[in-house]
Amino acid sequence: MTKFSEQFSRRKFIVTAGASAVSTILLKACTPAEPGGTAGAGGGATPGSAASPAATSAVAVANEKRVEGIETTKVTLGYIPIVEAAGLIIAKEKGFFAKYGMTDVTVAKQANWGSARDNVEIGSAGGGIDGGQWQMPMPYQISEGLITKGSVKIPMYVLAQLNTQGNGIAIAGKHKGKGIGLKLNQAAQDYMKGLKAAGTPFKAAYTFPKANQDLWIRYWLAANGINPDTDVELLTVPAAQTVANMKTGSMDAFSTGDPWPLRIVQEDIGFMSALTAQIWKDHPEEYLAMRGDWVDKHPKATEAMLAGLIEAQQWCDKPENRAELVAIVSGRNYFDVPPAVLTPPYEGKYKMGDGQADINDFKMGPLYWKDDLGNVSYPYRSHGLWFLTESVRWGFLPTNTLADSKTIIGKVNREDLWKAAAKLPGVADADIPKSTSRGIEKFFDGKEFNPEKPEDYLKSLAIKKV
Ligand code: CA
Repeated sequence: MTKFSEQFSRRKFIVTAGASAVSTILLKACTPAEPGGTAGAGGGATPGSAASPAATSAVAVANEKRVEGIETTKVTLGYIPIVEAAGLIIAKEKGFFAKYGMTDVTVAKQANWGSARDNVEIGSAGGGIDGGQWQMPMPYQISEGLITKGSVKIPMYVLAQLNTQGNGIAIAGKHKGKGIGLKLNQAAQDYMKGLKAAGTPFKAAYTFPKANQDLWIRYWLAANGINPDTDVELLTVPAAQTVANMKTGSMDAFSTGDPWPLRIVQEDIGFMSALTAQIWKDHPEEYLAMRGDWVDKHPKATEAMLAGLIEAQQWCDKPENRAELVAIVSGRNYFDVPPAVLTPPYEGKYKMGDGQADINDFKMGPLYWKDDLGNVSYPYRSHGLWFLTESVRWGFLPTNTLADSKTIIGKVNREDLWKAAAKLPGVADADIPKSTSRGIEKFFDGKEFNPEKPEDYLKSLAIKKV
């Protein structure tokens, strides 16, 4: 695995580690005051509860279905304030974790992805986290010591997918009228490339390098004839800072989870070029992954936690629960945004801007339990393979990763634990995937990813680094 690690630039590591060390300290300083944290949470401090329909909706009863032999009732899960985190927050606030005996779950806001990585390195015993929400392939990168301090390998287990969709690419308003949308014609491509020649290269941001948002923006650019490595500039900006940075004009585009891209349109700072749901309908997005040592030590608690998450994900996808979901996650304890910015994506309503047709389709928004292709929560190995293949495409991982992929994925992906836990909330057999592969995946530009033949997918792509 040495070559695996060499692909990560030392310099970049130092930069992100330095920046996130500061935020870790800040995070720790504010942890006691973080609701959803240890202090005074317990579901009592439900944000927005006074005005929300919470009172009329059933809350799960603590220990109602307590898992026999549970090793601990306590776990600390990190999250980033984007729609991906909703399942974890709802599992806590609506009592689904507690229902299965996990009565002391801390859902801890992370300043950015680098902080989450730093905090999982420390573990909850040291004031960090045991696991939580991750972009892909971060659990693999942490397991292989590619983004950890001193390249220490910290085995991680991927336990469930948190959501699909709910992410998008926003473009600064100064580029209106140039035809920058899902598909770019020749003139639009020439315009974007021409900015570099003019000395003002198009700057596109993601929230953490070599993971989902970086991969989405690269896929979209490359499918439109723009080489992300040579025709534009890519940079890292934390999700919560994206709106401010676009306002000040320090970037031209960014890719992240809702509600941040939508705010760009609502505040008339820019427009949307694409939803990830348009790039790849029902695509894999973010995941619940834990330190392997925590899971190995607490198998029953893991099962209880997963059962609570699964039930929360089912709850999140009921349209009648979305108003309450918005009231809870938008609260000061959690995302701290006006509910009005979260409501449209949760109804599948997207204003795209720049003369593009609006989207109004519940199934184009974030989904947590079921989509048109089946189960959202199940952690398909074929999706892990796509993230590794796409990482090979851009030179983030060596080509031989594909030959080793079964071993690499086998160590990290714990679909077996998901399957065992799904029995507790009574998930119907028909809703439990029979195969570890979702089969052939289709993208907006006509490309296909066959998990049996990742090399063929790489060959089919015109723009790549490999
Ligand atoms: Ca995301």
